[in-house]
Amino acid sequence: MAEGRTVPEVDRAAAARKAVERRRARAALKRDLTMRVTSPQTVLAHATADADSVAGSMRITDFLLALPAIGSGKRDRILADLHISAVKRLGGLGVRQRVLLQDWLDGRFPQPHPRDGRSRLLVLAGPTAVGKGTVAAHIRENHPEIHLSVSATTRAPRPGEIDGVHYFFVDDAEFDRLIANGELLEHAVVHNRSRYGTPRAPIDDALAQGKTVLLEIDLQGARQVRQAEPSATLIFLLPPSWDELVQRLVGRGTEGPEERVRRLRTAKVELAAQSEFDHRIVNEDVAVAAREVVELSSSSVR
Ligand code: 5GP
Repeated sequence: MAEGRTVPEVDRAAAARKAVERRRARAALKRDLTMRVTSPQTVLAHATADADSVAGSMRITDFLLALPAIGSGKRDRILADLHISAVKRLGGLGVRQRVLLQDWLDGRFPQPHPRDGRSRLLVLAGPTAVGKGTVAAHIRENHPEIHLSVSATTRAPRPGEIDGVHYFFVDDAEFDRLIANGELLEHAVVHNRSRYGTPRAPIDDALAQGKTVLLEIDLQGARQVRQAEPSATLIFLLPPSWDELVQRLVGRGTEGPEERVRRLRTAKVELAAQSEFDHRIVNEDVAVAAREVVELSSSSVR
């Protein structure tokens, strides 16, 4: 090879580093798809908008395999049905292939459908460690016009938690009494340990005063509210990525390794329920996520 055409050592090292970064980014995106932190439709949209993006450079075979409950046999059948060659990358699909893929994804992975005419009752749920409590606390401090429901719980207060502000701390007997008297809108055992429930009266009062009410509760509770109040607006808070969710759980250091594994398993199950919700909000930045929740509340008053 002529002297002038050799690739300089630094360039080669930089290119290799870049290739490693791309591979890492693609692997992270695949985890996000598997864990449903992002939807396949979102990834396809990114790939379509920019064929050189991480999504665009993903092989169609890897994309399909990353989707929940798709193995290699099913993948090959899907590719044949959609007339897509296995060597294609997501950003390199033809228009017709893209439309067929989009239709197939919409059938298999339904997206939330925001509905009009919602009530002023908002429910914020999402997987463990996604930061629901932090977003709710931000709303409590910055939006006094929104009534944040105070739950009853049988768990012991943590340092700094005030009875009647963060929770109503009650014992099992009192919790049983609240249920027996029909005083809870919903209740559930969370993380296999303590009981939590939403007192009904303060919510009815706040709604009667024309206020917006926000409940920050777990998935089981959100489902019960949907049953009891079908017009409630259900919001699902998502982490920016699966890796970030794992980091947050490790970072807060409130759980031991065994409990962390258990919670991550629960988080995976919880993420699979997101299509039951009316809206999805990504908690990349607490203030931004809180604003998006508040905006949903104002748009739900009709
Ligand atoms: P923590 O004990 O960390 O404050 O809350 C644990 C979990 O309980 C969180 O996921 C929170 O959303 C949930 N939670 C808090 N209050 C209620 C409630 O009233 N009902 C239900 N179902 N879950 C709740």
